[in-house]
Amino acid sequence: MSTSHNPFSIAQRQLDEAAQVLKLEPAVHEFLRWPMREFHVRIPVRMDDGSVRVFEGFRVQYNNARGPTKGGIRFHPEETFDTVRALAAWMTWKTAVMDLPLGGGKGGVVCNPKEMSLGELERLSRGYIRALGHYIGPNVDVPAPDVYTNPQVMAWMLDEYEKMVGESAPGVITGKPLSLGGSAGRGDATARGGVYTIREAAKVLGLELKGATCAIQGYGNAGQFAHKLGAELLGLKVVAVSDSKGGVYSPEGLDYEAVMAHKRETGSVVGFPGAQSITNEELLELDVVVLIPAALENQIGEWNADKIKAKIVAELANGPTTPEGDEILHERGVYVIPDFLCNAGGVTVSYFEQVQNAYNYYWPEEMVHERLDQKMTTAFHAVHEAAQKHKVHNRLGAYVVAVSRVAEAMKLRGWV
Ligand code: GLU
Repeated sequence: MSTSHNPFSIAQRQLDEAAQVLKLEPAVHEFLRWPMREFHVRIPVRMDDGSVRVFEGFRVQYNNARGPTKGGIRFHPEETFDTVRALAAWMTWKTAVMDLPLGGGKGGVVCNPKEMSLGELERLSRGYIRALGHYIGPNVDVPAPDVYTNPQVMAWMLDEYEKMVGESAPGVITGKPLSLGGSAGRGDATARGGVYTIREAAKVLGLELKGATCAIQGYGNAGQFAHKLGAELLGLKVVAVSDSKGGVYSPEGLDYEAVMAHKRETGSVVGFPGAQSITNEELLELDVVVLIPAALENQIGEWNADKIKAKIVAELANGPTTPEGDEILHERGVYVIPDFLCNAGGVTVSYFEQVQNAYNYYWPEEMVHERLDQKMTTAFHAVHEAAQKHKVHNRLGAYVVAVSRVAEAMKLRGWV
């Protein structure tokens, strides 16, 4: 990976820009450029064939000035320490921009879950907690799902943690199945929160979304539910979707249920009947009103930002746009809803989940939706106003809001 596309170098460059706008004191800036604490572990796992494989795992606790560190765990073959560091930094800005009483963290394991059996995945999930269980906790560091981890993985991890501490501790992890203390509305929360921010963006831009075209890159948890809720709540016409194997395009629009049925059957959206096949790169450059990158980092950069035709880019993925990409999109008047605002619905409902776990009393789904909407709408307008006020692009606006909140907490604690 070249330095310019190393996600952690990008996260640091973004912070550096915000530090200039905010005229951040050098010590505050320096402290925020690096994780406060990080773990690098080896996890031995008995495979189905009887052999033992040793996996590499990470947990980064980036900053806890505003509360316990919070953030998902990724299982991915290309996971790196620097990717986890970047994601942990972005979690810090995410919880701060949403004004949640939490810090930022992230975890990861280098593995390919698509090639592992359920039993192997379970042993890996439990192994991760055995390696790190003493360093997490409901008031310390709280993991959650991310790319290729899901409620079942959270359930195994919770069980392993509770075995270690010898008592019930549902607040140690979020994104749990409902029957183990999960929250109603957590499943689609990332996409739902993003959809609320698209609605608000359309309001400030004076754009009509009903019938407006939309393309979605990535068809995991965030991308799938963006398709469903974009159509249901905003009336968007989703004309293109993709996953790691490729994409499909139909100017008449793609039906969510039909695409999901095809993906369940074949393992991919590719080959969806009646649609043209297109590449992930082509999807990004389609002439649509709303573009939703919902896959991985580094998708929009100096190589294609001048070809993006969308009016709104709603970043459900973490880190899809490079700093050069940001500049180009901004100059061209594309309205970017930056990742750590756009995809903050997930961690916001994770926070609601923790609150419910602490009370041991659970909210109905409508209440979760209503409170999520309030949180997303407030954060959206705080970012929009900061960007207008400082005459910067929205990502920098979001940094200004988030970093000043974290810096204030650090000062009040007397750290800097
Ligand atoms: N992995 C999600 C994210 O990147 C959710 C994190 C959480 O719920 O703690 O925001």
